[in-house]
Amino acid sequence: MEDNVCLGKEVEPPNEETEPPGRVVQLSIFPTIGLTDNRSRTQPLGPRRRNRRSESRFPNENAAFSINPRADAFRRTHFPRVSTAEWNDWRWQLRNRIQDREALARIIRLSDDELKAVTSGRGPLPVAITPYYASLLDCNDPSQPVRRCVVPVDREYFHHPCETEDPLGEEKDSQLPNLVHRYPDRVLFLVTGYCSTYCRYCTRSRMVGNRGTYRFGHREWDRAIEYIERTPTIRDVLLSGGDPLTLPNDHLKWLLSRLRRIPHVEFLRIGTKVPVVLPQRVTMGLVRMLKQYHPLWMSIHFTHPDELTPETAHACTRLADAGIPLGSQTVLLSGVNDNVETMTRLFHGLLKIRVKPYYLYQCDPIPGSSHFRTPVSKGLEIIRGLRGFTSGYAVPTYVIDAPGGGGKVPLLPEYVAGRDGDDLLLRNYAGDLYRYPDPAGNTGESAGSGFRMCSGPLKE
Ligand code: SF4
Repeated sequence: MEDNVCLGKEVEPPNEETEPPGRVVQLSIFPTIGLTDNRSRTQPLGPRRRNRRSESRFPNENAAFSINPRADAFRRTHFPRVSTAEWNDWRWQLRNRIQDREALARIIRLSDDELKAVTSGRGPLPVAITPYYASLLDCNDPSQPVRRCVVPVDREYFHHPCETEDPLGEEKDSQLPNLVHRYPDRVLFLVTGYCSTYCRYCTRSRMVGNRGTYRFGHREWDRAIEYIERTPTIRDVLLSGGDPLTLPNDHLKWLLSRLRRIPHVEFLRIGTKVPVVLPQRVTMGLVRMLKQYHPLWMSIHFTHPDELTPETAHACTRLADAGIPLGSQTVLLSGVNDNVETMTRLFHGLLKIRVKPYYLYQCDPIPGSSHFRTPVSKGLEIIRGLRGFTSGYAVPTYVIDAPGGGGKVPLLPEYVAGRDGDDLLLRNYAGDLYRYPDPAGNTGESAGSGFRMCSGPLKE
């Protein structure tokens, strides 16, 4: 078996209990239970018969995980032969992902637009939705926010001239194919191209899911770690992908332990959407392993308050109880979360499950994303509607990841209204003007027209 996993193969991770811990093992390919059989629409999804051998061989430590009433009803309707214990097994969730038109048509009433998109399948990004996340979809409403995030529509195949495959210029800042070193003291380490569920607006749609040119295996991991070892300025490593938490525990443990042994690496981070789309993956075994590698932080990709289920709360509680600081990353998406009320519900809900809203991203101009992008003024309007009206902890930093590799640029509504003599004029959240004595300052010199513009070099 190859020691690399080619993204073109859409593989699933092996069982964590089958492999000796602490070494890189070959990434074996888990058999996918297809949903493309000839069962009629009225027949349930799921394996034809229970795989008793695999169940006994791979004990499920997560049998008692939360299951919300909606997900349970979905399980009973579409997977009636599947027990709650199997449903709560993340490997079962991965094996039974919804990946094609037939499977989608069994769980939702596809609109003409969706049907056309999934039938043509022209885009680079495959369709995959865990049964758990599928249970959150509205079966009749194609405009439902979470459904729009994971079910393709035909506009995904419309490419605007401003869109590019690598809008953030990650390739040009890559020292190795899966290691982006843009900022002096930190690197982005892309450890897998696999995700349990594919977001239709994914910034890395060029490499996740099914692109054969990107390879992620222990040879690539070794090279990246060797680069980090010989680069003493790197103090912060962000593991991302794809989704690192789809890796089996011992693969992740190997990566974290190798990185933790590097003296100049002070800080490890994981970027993931797993607690949202596959919360069952956050087993006690996983958190026991992760907590050995502190300081370890986690950025979780949340999109909409409908994602705040008991399952996700359970996963975040386990991670937070393991001492892992949790932050959220949210992409601003047209018709999904582009209003103050939705964002307020999301950010308040996140604080309740101990996740700090961290970044709100302007949607990157990847090919086929025009139906998701909002004007920048919409993001500023949302920040203005949050700041001062709710806890500061509930307000993320709104950023544009500057196309071409400029990095994250924070954006704020204008709170500096200008100057009046020695006073700086400030506008508060309610729109009222205040003075701050600032005799030595020069901020806000052009009174009446907002703050002074800095005329730095304009990069192409
Ligand atoms: S989970 Fe992240 S990497 Fe995976 S498809 Fe979604 S945005 Fe892309």
